[in-house]
Amino acid sequence: MEPGNGTPDSGVKERLQSLQNRMCGLEAEHGRDVRSTHLLAVSKRHPVDRIREAYAAGQRLFGENFVQEALAKQRELGDCAIEWHFIGAIQSNKSADIARHFSWVHTLASAKVARRLSAARPPELAPLNILIQINISGESSKQGIEAADAPELVRLVSQLPQLRYRGLMTLPALAESEAEQRHAFSALRELAIAMPAPFDTLSMGTSHDYAAAIAEGSTMVRLGTAIFGPRPMK
Ligand SMILES: *Cc1c(COP(=O)(O)O)cnc(C)c1O
Repeated sequence: MEPGNGTPDSGVKERLQSLQNRMCGLEAEHGRDVRSTHLLAVSKRHPVDRIREAYAAGQRLFGENFVQEALAKQRELGDCAIEWHFIGAIQSNKSADIARHFSWVHTLASAKVARRLSAARPPELAPLNILIQINISGESSKQGIEAADAPELVRLVSQLPQLRYRGLMTLPALAESEAEQRHAFSALRELAIAMPAPFDTLSMGTSHDYAAAIAEGSTMVRLGTAIFGPRPMK
Protein backbone atom coordinates (compact mmCIF):
# COMPACT_ATOMS: atom_id res chain seq x y z
CA MET A 1 0.00 0.00 0.00
CA GLU A 2 1.27 3.48 -0.85
CA PRO A 3 1.48 6.17 1.83
CA GLY A 4 -1.65 8.24 1.32
CA ASN A 5 -2.52 11.77 0.31
CA GLY A 6 0.67 13.09 -1.12
CA THR A 7 2.73 12.19 1.95
CA PRO A 8 6.28 11.81 0.69
CA ASP A 9 7.98 8.47 1.18
CA SER A 10 9.87 8.95 4.41
CA GLY A 11 12.40 6.14 4.22
CA VAL A 12 10.63 3.98 6.82
CA LYS A 13 11.00 0.87 4.69
CA GLU A 14 14.75 1.31 4.26
CA ARG A 15 15.25 2.02 7.96
CA LEU A 16 13.24 -1.05 8.95
CA GLN A 17 15.30 -3.19 6.63
CA SER A 18 18.63 -1.93 7.92
CA LEU A 19 17.45 -2.30 11.53
CA GLN A 20 16.44 -5.92 10.88
CA ASN A 21 19.88 -6.56 9.40
CA ARG A 22 21.63 -4.90 12.31
CA MET A 23 19.54 -6.92 14.78
CA CYS A 24 20.45 -10.19 13.05
CA GLY A 25 24.11 -9.17 13.12
CA LEU A 26 23.93 -8.45 16.85
CA GLU A 27 22.17 -11.75 17.56
CA ALA A 28 24.86 -13.65 15.68
CA GLU A 29 27.63 -11.68 17.38
CA HIS A 30 26.26 -12.60 20.82
CA GLY A 31 25.64 -16.26 20.04
CA ARG A 32 21.88 -15.96 19.88
CA ASP A 33 19.47 -17.49 17.39
CA VAL A 34 18.99 -15.17 14.45
CA ARG A 35 15.55 -13.50 14.53
CA SER A 36 14.96 -14.36 18.19
CA THR A 37 14.40 -10.65 18.93
CA HIS A 38 11.07 -9.17 17.86
CA LEU A 39 10.89 -5.60 16.64
CA LEU A 40 8.05 -3.56 18.11
CA ALA A 41 7.52 -0.37 16.08
CA VAL A 42 6.71 2.46 18.50
CA SER A 43 4.39 4.75 16.55
CA LYS A 44 3.28 7.21 19.24
CA ARG A 45 2.71 10.74 17.83
CA HIS A 46 3.51 9.52 14.32
CA PRO A 47 0.68 9.71 11.76
CA VAL A 48 -1.23 6.78 10.34
CA ASP A 49 0.51 7.19 6.96
CA ARG A 50 3.83 6.27 8.57
CA ILE A 51 2.27 3.20 10.16
CA ARG A 52 0.92 2.17 6.76
CA GLU A 53 4.37 2.62 5.29
CA ALA A 54 5.88 0.32 7.91
CA TYR A 55 3.01 -2.14 7.49
CA ALA A 56 3.57 -2.25 3.71
CA ALA A 57 7.20 -3.14 4.47
CA GLY A 58 6.02 -6.14 6.51
CA GLN A 59 5.96 -4.70 10.03
CA ARG A 60 3.10 -6.16 12.12
CA LEU A 61 3.81 -5.28 15.80
CA PHE A 62 3.10 -1.69 16.79
CA GLY A 63 3.33 0.00 20.20
CA GLU A 64 1.33 3.00 21.35
CA ASN A 65 1.48 5.03 24.60
CA PHE A 66 -1.76 7.03 24.66
CA VAL A 67 -5.15 5.32 24.67
CA GLN A 68 -7.18 7.95 22.78
CA GLU A 69 -4.54 8.34 20.09
CA ALA A 70 -4.19 4.58 19.75
CA LEU A 71 -7.93 3.92 19.43
CA ALA A 72 -8.26 6.57 16.72
CA LYS A 73 -5.40 4.98 14.78
CA GLN A 74 -6.86 1.50 15.22
CA ARG A 75 -10.15 2.67 13.71
CA GLU A 76 -8.34 4.09 10.69
CA LEU A 77 -6.21 0.97 10.30
CA GLY A 78 -9.02 -1.56 10.66
CA ASP A 79 -8.02 -3.13 7.32
CA CYS A 80 -4.53 -4.02 8.65
CA ALA A 81 -3.66 -7.19 10.60
CA ILE A 82 -1.69 -5.31 13.26
CA GLU A 83 -0.85 -6.69 16.70
CA TRP A 84 -1.19 -3.70 19.06
CA HIS A 85 0.95 -3.36 22.18
CA PHE A 86 0.22 -0.83 24.92
CA ILE A 87 3.48 0.60 26.27
CA GLY A 88 2.37 3.79 28.04
CA ALA A 89 1.62 4.56 31.67
CA ILE A 90 -1.76 3.02 32.59
CA GLN A 91 -4.38 5.28 34.14
CA SER A 92 -6.81 2.97 35.87
CA ASN A 93 -9.84 4.65 34.27
CA LYS A 94 -8.40 3.66 30.87
CA SER A 95 -7.75 0.04 31.77
CA ALA A 96 -11.01 -1.25 30.23
CA ASP A 97 -10.17 0.32 26.86
CA ILE A 98 -6.70 -1.18 27.03
CA ALA A 99 -8.09 -4.61 27.91
CA ARG A 100 -10.45 -4.51 24.92
CA HIS A 101 -8.24 -3.05 22.22
CA PHE A 102 -4.71 -4.37 22.72
CA SER A 103 -3.04 -7.79 22.54
CA TRP A 104 -0.18 -6.95 24.86
CA VAL A 105 0.48 -4.63 27.80
CA HIS A 106 4.14 -3.89 28.63
CA THR A 107 3.62 -1.57 31.56
CA LEU A 108 1.67 -3.37 34.25
CA ALA A 109 2.85 -2.10 37.63
CA SER A 110 0.06 -2.69 40.16
CA ALA A 111 -2.26 -5.39 41.48
CA LYS A 112 -5.24 -3.08 41.13
CA VAL A 113 -4.67 -2.55 37.42
CA ALA A 114 -3.98 -6.28 36.94
CA ARG A 115 -7.41 -7.13 38.39
CA ARG A 116 -9.12 -4.46 36.31
CA LEU A 117 -7.48 -5.60 33.09
CA SER A 118 -8.46 -9.21 33.68
CA ALA A 119 -12.05 -8.31 34.58
CA ALA A 120 -12.42 -6.07 31.51
CA ARG A 121 -10.81 -8.44 29.00
CA PRO A 122 -13.70 -9.79 26.88
CA PRO A 123 -14.08 -13.57 27.36
CA GLU A 124 -14.21 -14.16 23.60
CA LEU A 125 -10.67 -12.76 23.23
CA ALA A 126 -7.49 -14.66 24.09
CA PRO A 127 -6.03 -13.66 27.45
CA LEU A 128 -4.17 -10.33 27.41
CA ASN A 129 -0.38 -10.84 27.22
CA ILE A 130 1.25 -9.15 30.19
CA LEU A 131 4.71 -7.81 30.85
CA ILE A 132 5.43 -6.30 34.23
CA GLN A 133 7.40 -3.05 34.13
CA ILE A 134 10.35 -3.00 36.51
CA ASN A 135 12.09 0.10 37.77
CA ILE A 136 15.51 -1.45 37.32
CA SER A 137 17.66 1.66 37.72
CA GLY A 138 16.22 2.60 41.11
CA GLU A 139 15.59 6.21 42.06
CA SER A 140 16.49 7.62 38.62
CA SER A 141 13.26 6.37 37.02
CA LYS A 142 9.72 6.86 38.28
CA GLN A 143 7.97 4.14 36.32
CA GLY A 144 7.53 0.47 37.11
CA ILE A 145 7.66 -1.46 40.35
CA GLU A 146 10.68 -2.27 42.45
CA ALA A 147 12.33 -5.62 41.80
CA ALA A 148 11.47 -6.74 45.35
CA ASP A 149 7.74 -6.32 44.67
CA ALA A 150 7.77 -8.22 41.38
CA PRO A 151 7.26 -11.84 42.55
CA GLU A 152 3.92 -11.06 44.20
CA LEU A 153 2.60 -9.32 41.08
CA VAL A 154 3.88 -12.14 38.84
CA ARG A 155 1.98 -14.63 41.00
CA LEU A 156 -1.22 -12.58 40.79
CA VAL A 157 -0.98 -12.15 37.00
CA SER A 158 -0.42 -15.90 36.61
CA GLN A 159 -3.64 -16.58 38.52
CA LEU A 160 -5.95 -14.06 36.86
CA PRO A 161 -8.07 -15.82 34.23
CA GLN A 162 -7.92 -13.28 31.41
CA LEU A 163 -4.22 -12.39 31.75
CA ARG A 164 -1.23 -14.33 30.47
CA TYR A 165 2.10 -13.61 32.10
CA ARG A 166 4.85 -13.35 29.44
CA GLY A 167 7.75 -11.64 31.23
CA LEU A 168 9.29 -8.33 32.23
CA MET A 169 9.86 -4.92 30.65
CA THR A 170 12.09 -2.03 31.59
CA LEU A 171 12.86 1.49 30.38
CA PRO A 172 16.08 2.26 32.25
CA ALA A 173 17.34 5.76 32.91
CA LEU A 174 19.45 7.04 30.03
CA ALA A 175 22.96 5.67 30.33
CA GLU A 176 25.84 6.94 28.27
CA SER A 177 28.16 3.97 28.21
CA GLU A 178 27.27 0.60 26.75
CA ALA A 179 28.58 -1.02 29.94
CA GLU A 180 26.01 0.88 32.03
CA GLN A 181 23.24 0.03 29.59
CA ARG A 182 24.13 -3.65 29.69
CA HIS A 183 24.23 -3.61 33.47
CA ALA A 184 20.55 -2.60 33.67
CA PHE A 185 19.45 -5.10 31.03
CA SER A 186 21.33 -8.02 32.56
CA ALA A 187 19.70 -7.15 35.90
CA LEU A 188 16.26 -7.44 34.25
CA ARG A 189 17.15 -10.79 32.70
CA GLU A 190 18.35 -12.16 36.04
CA LEU A 191 15.23 -10.90 37.75
CA ALA A 192 13.01 -12.62 35.17
CA ILE A 193 14.80 -15.92 35.77
CA ALA A 194 14.17 -15.57 39.52
CA MET A 195 10.41 -15.01 39.15
CA PRO A 196 7.91 -17.66 40.32
CA ALA A 197 6.52 -18.26 36.79
CA PRO A 198 8.13 -19.10 33.45
CA PHE A 199 8.64 -16.28 30.94
CA ASP A 200 9.37 -16.04 27.25
CA THR A 201 9.65 -12.28 26.77
CA LEU A 202 12.08 -9.59 27.86
CA SER A 203 10.94 -6.23 26.49
CA MET A 204 14.04 -4.07 26.63
CA GLY A 205 15.93 -1.71 24.37
CA THR A 206 14.92 1.52 22.59
CA SER A 207 16.50 3.36 19.67
CA HIS A 208 19.52 4.45 21.65
CA ASP A 209 20.30 1.26 23.58
CA TYR A 210 18.90 -1.70 21.64
CA ALA A 211 22.37 -3.06 20.84
CA ALA A 212 23.12 -3.45 24.56
CA ALA A 213 19.66 -4.95 25.11
CA ILE A 214 20.13 -7.58 22.40
CA ALA A 215 23.55 -8.41 23.84
CA GLU A 216 21.80 -9.12 27.17
CA GLY A 217 19.03 -11.29 25.77
CA SER A 218 16.21 -8.91 24.86
CA THR A 219 13.44 -10.70 22.95
CA MET A 220 11.57 -7.51 22.02
CA VAL A 221 13.11 -4.14 21.28
CA ARG A 222 10.80 -1.12 21.20
CA LEU A 223 12.00 1.21 18.45
CA GLY A 224 10.41 4.53 17.54
CA THR A 225 12.92 7.14 16.44
CA ALA A 226 15.17 4.65 14.67
CA ILE A 227 12.27 3.67 12.39
CA PHE A 228 10.17 6.81 12.04
CA GLY A 229 12.63 9.61 12.76
CA PRO A 230 12.06 12.29 15.43
CA ARG A 231 8.53 12.44 16.87
CA PRO A 232 6.42 15.41 15.79
CA MET A 233 5.56 17.80 18.63
CA LYS A 234 2.07 17.45 20.08
C1 LIG B 1 8.60 6.10 23.20
C2 LIG B 1 9.00 4.80 23.79
C3 LIG B 1 9.92 3.96 23.15
C4 LIG B 1 10.61 4.32 21.85
O1 LIG B 1 11.62 5.26 22.06
P1 LIG B 1 12.62 5.67 20.87
O2 LIG B 1 13.74 6.33 21.56
O3 LIG B 1 11.86 6.59 19.98
O4 LIG B 1 13.02 4.42 20.18
C5 LIG B 1 10.19 2.74 23.73
N1 LIG B 1 9.62 2.36 24.89
C6 LIG B 1 8.73 3.14 25.53
C7 LIG B 1 8.13 2.66 26.80
C8 LIG B 1 8.40 4.38 25.01
O5 LIG B 1 7.53 5.15 25.68
